[in-house]
Amino acid sequence: MVKKDIIILGSTGSIGTQTLQIVQKYSQLFNVVGMSCNNNIGLFVSQVNAFKPKYIAVPNPVLAQKVMAQLSYKPILFDGENCLQLIVSVPEGELVVTAIVGICGLIPTITAIKHKKNIALANKETLVAGGSVVTKLAKSYGVQILPVDSEHSAIWQCLDFNFDKDIKKILLTASGGPFFNFSAEQLKNVTLEQALKHPTWNMGAKVTIDSSTLMNKGLELIEAIHLFNVGEEKIKIVVQRESYIHSMVQFCDGSIIAQMSKPTMLLPIQLALTYPQRLPCEVEDIDWTKLTINCDEPDYNKFECLKIARACAKELGLKPAIMNSANEFVVKKFLNKQINYNQIPYYINKALDKIESKAIFDEQDILETDFKTKKYLEDIMES
Ligand code: MG
Repeated sequence: MVKKDIIILGSTGSIGTQTLQIVQKYSQLFNVVGMSCNNNIGLFVSQVNAFKPKYIAVPNPVLAQKVMAQLSYKPILFDGENCLQLIVSVPEGELVVTAIVGICGLIPTITAIKHKKNIALANKETLVAGGSVVTKLAKSYGVQILPVDSEHSAIWQCLDFNFDKDIKKILLTASGGPFFNFSAEQLKNVTLEQALKHPTWNMGAKVTIDSSTLMNKGLELIEAIHLFNVGEEKIKIVVQRESYIHSMVQFCDGSIIAQMSKPTMLLPIQLALTYPQRLPCEVEDIDWTKLTINCDEPDYNKFECLKIARACAKELGLKPAIMNSANEFVVKKFLNKQINYNQIPYYINKALDKIESKAIFDEQDILETDFKTKKYLEDIMES
């Protein structure tokens, strides 16, 4: 059997390590030809020595040399700021898993598409900021964008892997995060430690904070608009506290199809890798005798980030890109304890008021908008 050659951008993060877990289990199906890492070089060295990709990428040249010195063989190294573009431009590799966080995933994803590599999309910021630029490009190069985000994987499964089905509604589920039952007053005083604890999912720091503010659901709303080519008015957000339903699709006859499992990222990652095949996956069965499903509506007034995202989803243009860049910037500030929790939506709104949007845009506009947004916020935070 011919193995599928894959490239993993961000192999040491939560999605990256789980991707390698699946590759290891199904080593007869997959071959890792490329891997990248940002900072966690200790883990990266052991991963590279185990999977022996032909190519590796590490942006920081000093760290890159440290990695090379500890390897049991000599892979081809890409370093420097363009290293992710270079690693996705190699002739090998039919699928790129974009397991990195933030807008930095945009250009490598676009480059991979231009090299006709399918994308297992775990970097939601790429679709939020890139929107139709990315989806149109994928279409013109005949490239598949396979969702890894659990909700989007669920919707894709409910649609029987058919992106063009006529649907009445998408019911995008949310766990509600750790502060679902907090009052508006309590939300003002949330600490970093509290925000870093998620009730049902174990993830990286940025997405954990985004889940607590519900910005993660806002980003996923915009991601769904582009992936499934539907208007925001057709996407309803449903809080499903147990995270057993990963999303649902309602069809014109009223029938609703849901995708369910215990919360795990292994299943959606594996499906993106093995599609169109389903293979056994290490997920515990749901005990139906003990099952309870609690659903609720999110409070858009209490969770201001979700309200902001809904407004940006209505307007589109560069609004989602501005929102995404602002959020990325302020979450970093919050993680560094430089701003308070309730200042996250405050500063995102500031950026949206100041930075200009436009309806038609290209990848250069997205990058300029990212720069302008972060520069503006840096300036107003300093003064
Ligand atoms: Mg998700």
